[in-house]
Amino acid sequence: MRLSKYFLPILRENPKEAEIASHRLMLRAGMVRQASAGIYSWLPLGYAVLMKIQKIVEEEQARTGAIEMLMPTIQPADLWKLSGRYDDYGKEMLRITDRHEREMLYGPTNEELITDIFRTSIKSYKDLPRNLYHIQWKFRDEIRPRFGVMRGREFLMKDGYSFDLSAQEGRHAYHKMFVSYLRSYKRMGLTAIPMAADTGPIGGDLSHEFIILAQTGESEVFCHRDLIEMPAPPVDIDYDGDLTPVIKKWTDKYAATDEMHDAARFEREVPEESRIAARGIEVGHIFFFGDKYAKPMGCTVQGADGKPVNIQSGSYGIGISRLVGAIIEASHDEHGIIWPESVAPFKVGLINLKSGDAQTDAACEGLYEKLGHAGIGVLYDDTSERAGGKFKTMDLIGLPWQLIVGPRGLKSGEVEVKNRKSGARETLSLDAALNKLSQEKAPS
Ligand code: ATP
Ligand code: MG
Repeated sequence: MRLSKYFLPILRENPKEAEIASHRLMLRAGMVRQASAGIYSWLPLGYAVLMKIQKIVEEEQARTGAIEMLMPTIQPADLWKLSGRYDDYGKEMLRITDRHEREMLYGPTNEELITDIFRTSIKSYKDLPRNLYHIQWKFRDEIRPRFGVMRGREFLMKDGYSFDLSAQEGRHAYHKMFVSYLRSYKRMGLTAIPMAADTGPIGGDLSHEFIILAQTGESEVFCHRDLIEMPAPPVDIDYDGDLTPVIKKWTDKYAATDEMHDAARFEREVPEESRIAARGIEVGHIFFFGDKYAKPMGCTVQGADGKPVNIQSGSYGIGISRLVGAIIEASHDEHGIIWPESVAPFKVGLINLKSGDAQTDAACEGLYEKLGHAGIGVLYDDTSERAGGKFKTMDLIGLPWQLIVGPRGLKSGEVEVKNRKSGARETLSLDAALNKLSQEKAPS
């Protein structure tokens, strides 16, 4: 992509309304534009990151055997009356009446709709287990939308639903999601710590929030230091095998949000030097709820003995749009964003230090073309802005690599490669630079 033809409305000044780094940087880097409180347009650069995050989630979901689909944003109120949540949900739910005076709503989540689809489609125990998910915009009329996309009113969520015959199988479905979430966040360059979460009236221990430690997080959290360094489960993990040892490893050490925090237990179980009391951002929440929706909604299948069985379900959410902000909170400096390669909108920022100079233009064109052919995402700053401004823009938008090309270096056939994260610079021949940028691969 040539910057001269792209749409990147950069702000040089800090927007006053932004209280935290990610919000500030997303506005400054031209990633989003507020439409109204908590509702954003995703401009091209922001949308590119959003889609990269979505893709990682899709790939990791596929590994578990979960199946992607798409449900609508607008739902009929009837289903929510059946489950009893139409009244419970309160003012967070955006209620709509259509021209025929039918009560509708903009979905804040999808347990009811998916259960309805399932109960009318699946009849036999032989059709289980299944895990269906979609990635769709949600609307919650949050009392205090803030921090940009972190707490929006309209936001993009991956929500998945598992259907099993027995509680034990349901537990396995839950464990699969647990593992796949750990892997998904790690691939985005994040360490998300699963923390025991409130299960509400159902009880049990099967609810975890995935939390990223960050000073600007809204949750107060407590955990063992070792959890921060724990490596994510490997790519070849057997999702059909016994996952309990992995789960045990992650849940043995103390980790809880303030709602579940037990100060005495924390002090008893965690040595003082390993105690972390911090703030965190919730980027995911998984929940096993048994037959909470299946029962009132009559979602049963015929069991092996011919008798109807209530389906056991869980739901699994990832805040896709919140993650864009969370990744920036975890990875930025005073100059701007530092994208982990796996979610970067482009891998390389090609900087032409002297646009209009025939030799520099030719060298840049050549590099741009070759990188493109190698399948590497490049944003080529071919504008006539001064070098200082170009550097500022590239640092702000945080592409992992900068390829800097100017007449002085070209005299000896050389260009500069800068790593945005470490700041390390290398002077290389054009071929060596191309080679280097083609070899560096994002970890998976
Ligand atoms: P929170 O406590 O932050 O309000 P929640 O418990 O209401 O979250 P869930 O219903 O479990 O959230 O939704 C799944 C995920 O969707 C959350 O873990 C979070 O990452 C994301 N999410 C929830 N509400 C919002 C919001 N208003 N804006 C952006 N992302 C959100
Ligand atoms: Mg909420």
